[in-house]
Amino acid sequence: MTDAAVRRVTVLGSTGSIGQSTLDVIARHPERYRVHALTAHRSREALLAQCLTHGPAVAVLDDEQDAAWLRRELAAAGLETEVAAGAEALCDVARDSAADTVMAAIVGGAGLLPSLAAARAGKRVLLANKEALVMSGALFMDAVARSGATLLPIDSEHNAIYQCLPAEHRGGLSRHGVSQLLLTASGGPFRHLGHEALERVTPEQACTHPNWSMGRKISVDSATLMNKGLELIEACWLFDAEPGQVQVVVHPQSIVHSMAAYDDGSVIAQMGNPDMRTPIAYGLAWPERIDAGVRSLDLFQVARLDFERPDETRFPCLRLARQAMLAGGTAPAVLNAANEVAVDAFLNRRLGFAAIGRVVEDVLDGQAVAAAESLEAIIDADRRARAAAVRQLQRHAGVRQA
Ligand code: NAD
Ligand code: MG
Repeated sequence: MTDAAVRRVTVLGSTGSIGQSTLDVIARHPERYRVHALTAHRSREALLAQCLTHGPAVAVLDDEQDAAWLRRELAAAGLETEVAAGAEALCDVARDSAADTVMAAIVGGAGLLPSLAAARAGKRVLLANKEALVMSGALFMDAVARSGATLLPIDSEHNAIYQCLPAEHRGGLSRHGVSQLLLTASGGPFRHLGHEALERVTPEQACTHPNWSMGRKISVDSATLMNKGLELIEACWLFDAEPGQVQVVVHPQSIVHSMAAYDDGSVIAQMGNPDMRTPIAYGLAWPERIDAGVRSLDLFQVARLDFERPDETRFPCLRLARQAMLAGGTAPAVLNAANEVAVDAFLNRRLGFAAIGRVVEDVLDGQAVAAAESLEAIIDADRRARAAAVRQLQRHAGVRQA
């Protein structure tokens, strides 16, 4: 491969679970990829270690003092990495013309502006940050269309569906003979727990996922099924689907990563071991295929694949997400913001697990839906919903774990 063909990759949120997996895949293919920029929120030691390994041109942290520390450490190690700080610097690296590929792997609404900046700049955007799309779906897809960005979903389910759909699938699923998207869900660690037991689960239990190793926020979302709700919304935007065209299927083995059902009765599934390096490698190399370091699937070892209907009474977040998507406008941004506040409170032992859904429901009920026509409208809805969620926390503090 010539030097001109080497892809220059920026990894937003490089110290996280997806960020680390991305760097793992990149390191397997030094002839194909070079790291342009790495970013982290506060984990400066982890970012330093990544800079020493990958030698990026730019590194970004949130805080100016952390950035000054990193600058000194990198200079002492003889690296010429430029170090910047703050939210604006994140958007600058996301749109930097020196990179052609951006992995958007910041968690939560904090990823919205940088992910959107990469989309507006026409990058190959590897989208892991589902919250950005949930908040700003119409705006985000419009930015991609206008700039000519290549949007490749990294969320394993959406990456699977992308692989199962025809290459050209915009303009409504029915135009392409697709009747339904089947979005698989592991069901999370509490799939079998009853209502009362769900009241008492701890952050440690919620963060121990049976099949996937992930960041703390998405682990809690997987346990409440809000993750599947966010993914339902994400699927609607990515694939021009109506909420009614997306069926959630609980599949505890996490081997079938999702499916597309066609008018002729065919159902195409994408399978593999649950390892995010597969969708990441797909996004990096698309339309080619490269080694991701993932062991091949042994169906004899898997032996069986189970499928169940999700229980929306024990896991109301899935229903709330569907309702928010049907309500449209800023409702998904409100859902997301309330959920982020509630999950953070749960992780900090200020809210019980089952109260996460109650907080989200009350915030959704209390906020008027506005048109999501501008970034300002979305950010305003997000801000109001966060404030409303904080007020709800006191009401719902109820059952807490020790
Ligand atoms: P994580 O918590 O492990 O990592 C988050 C990264 O974002 C870290 O590098 C952190 O420093 C950075 N970050 C956090 N807050 C920030 C802020 N305010 N400003 C700037 N940077 C900030 O999360 P993760 O599990 O890697 O998930 C990242 C995203 O990918 C999420 O949106 C998640 O839903 C999505 N995703 C993750 C997985 C997975 O397997 N982990 C699978 C599918 C989708
Ligand atoms: Mg997923």
